[in-house]
Amino acid sequence: MTGATYDALVIGSGPNGLVAANLLADAGWSVLVLEAQPDAGGAVRSSHELADGFVHDTFSAFYPFARASPVMLGLDLERHGLTWSHPPAVQGHPFPDGSWALLHRDRGITADLAERAHPGDGEAWLRLCADWDAIGPALIDALLTPFPPVRGGLGVLTRLRHVGGVDFVRTLLSPALTMLDGRLGGEALRTLVAGNAGHADIPLDAAGSGMLGLLLTMMGQTVGFPAPQGGAGELSAAMVRRLESLGGEVRCDAEVVAVETDRGRATGVRLRSGERYAARRAVVADVGVEALYRHLLDPSDVPARVARGLDRFEMDPATVKVDWALDGPIPWASAPEHAPGTLHLAASRAEMAEATAQVASGYVPAHPFMLAGQMTTADPTRSPAGTEAVWAYTHVPQQTRGDAADGAASGSGSTGGTVGGDWGPDDRERFADRMQARFEELAPGFGSLVRARRVLGPRELEQRNANLVGGAVGAGTSQLHQMLLFRPVPGQWGRAETGVAGLYLGSAAAHPGGGVHGAPGSNAARAALAHARVSTLTALPRSVGRSVRGTLGRGTAGGGAS
Ligand SMILES: Cc1cc2nc3c(=O)[nH]c(=O)nc-3n(C[C@H](O)[C@H](O)[C@H](O)COP(=O)(O)OP(=O)(O)OC[C@H]3O[C@@H](n4cnc5c(N)ncnc54)[C@H](O)[C@@H]3O)c2cc1C
Repeated sequence: MTGATYDALVIGSGPNGLVAANLLADAGWSVLVLEAQPDAGGAVRSSHELADGFVHDTFSAFYPFARASPVMLGLDLERHGLTWSHPPAVQGHPFPDGSWALLHRDRGITADLAERAHPGDGEAWLRLCADWDAIGPALIDALLTPFPPVRGGLGVLTRLRHVGGVDFVRTLLSPALTMLDGRLGGEALRTLVAGNAGHADIPLDAAGSGMLGLLLTMMGQTVGFPAPQGGAGELSAAMVRRLESLGGEVRCDAEVVAVETDRGRATGVRLRSGERYAARRAVVADVGVEALYRHLLDPSDVPARVARGLDRFEMDPATVKVDWALDGPIPWASAPEHAPGTLHLAASRAEMAEATAQVASGYVPAHPFMLAGQMTTADPTRSPAGTEAVWAYTHVPQQTRGDAADGAASGSGSTGGTVGGDWGPDDRERFADRMQARFEELAPGFGSLVRARRVLGPRELEQRNANLVGGAVGAGTSQLHQMLLFRPVPGQWGRAETGVAGLYLGSAAAHPGGGVHGAPGSNAARAALAHARVSTLTALPRSVGRSVRGTLGRGTAGGGAS
């Protein structure tokens, strides 16, 4: 059965798919987004399944990238019903002695707290913020635009001299564990920055981790870590409404099983149901790199250099995520001065490094380093007054060699019994107990407030979103050897083009990787528009081509579905 023809088909409705679809619709193209799941949004969705009156984000929860990314800001989603909500403090890291590291959106407050904890750190923090003001926007621009980042790169180079030149480059390239050792004396903010590096899978003692830690911390300091009012799904809903207002369409429960080609050009897709849709100009794939090249394309269509690169493609670690509906706020033994939305849970930088090293070497961490969120604190609409919607996630190995809590790797015990790594129901619950124990140590009585708990292991995450292969949240490792021009595989130069004409990779598997910034989707849409312009011009007689160049520069009208 053959369905309609569109200018562009987008496979997958994650934020990158929806950004690509919106930008193509902005250019006047007819666009259909095909989504395998019953709801649109990819890893930006929420659910009401835990308890009455509670909204939980199934995957992602806080969106600094969306508030810093020119692409996302350009969509003006507030005009399509999105409202952002900020917690009193951006981030907090509670320590076993009852003290906290806190990041407040008012840098004066962050500095004041740091100064009280360690004299001199307040001033040092403000100096670091001033350096970031000088170079941060250019750095973000360079990271979020197509490779090579010519304009952004020049911007970074011209601003470097304002922040100390090569010395600042050295700081950026330093490992997160030690990058601020010369700048700050107190433990608090150095641990907070290292914790931000732990949002990806770069080892905390490796080059590149420091830059990510600083980037996320400074985004928190400048734009905050806001949450969409009403749930993460509201961010996706606003993107869908914007698309529909331009005539674009989203079809859910529509899994694509093949990208069809004709003489090396993508011409359409086939669904599991057997239905087909045709694409006049482009197919954008918001899917994993192995899914695209190993499952959706015929092997004969995959360029040899890509096939070779795929053999060495590295996923990031698996993930276990726990959601709690609590009958009251988290009962911190020592409450922070300003309540944070995002939390990092680890006793120290050393413990954080130990946990990530255990995961990297195949061991279930004895004391998992957890990212967590107090969602009702961030957005009071998430649960009834006086209660709290909470989540935490942590990384576990893709292939488990053992449990560090057994003493084999760490020599230290932990609660909840051995976790074997098959991630069946018993494993999941035992590991969730271990995660919950982290809260209990800092907030005695946490367990007695639990009204409901949901544990999503690697398999449950992948069932809800096929891009989360084995429970990996980053669509492939974020380590330096698979970023920038090496993403997704060497030879593709960080570009959205796939080697199959008319087919573009527009997911977090492409440069610049994970996070809700929309850059891979935007890069794919821009590549598709640029190629369409070139092929239109080359199809015209030269004199006509010159006269229409200006018109095409403002967008290529493609007409509706037919
Ligand atoms: C647990 C978790 C927590 C996170 N926390 C944050 C956070 O707080 N802040 C942040 O910025 N980022 C966070 N991230 C990362 C962020 O969510 C992702 O980087 C981002 O969603 C990637 O967007 P995407 O469009 O590339 O893919 P996805 O969001 O993964 O969407 C891909 C979509 O494609 C669909 N699909 C796949 N294959 C097919 C097919 N064959 N046919 C049809 N549809 C298909 C999937 O069902 C899915 O809907 C988190 C991720 C996870 C998993």
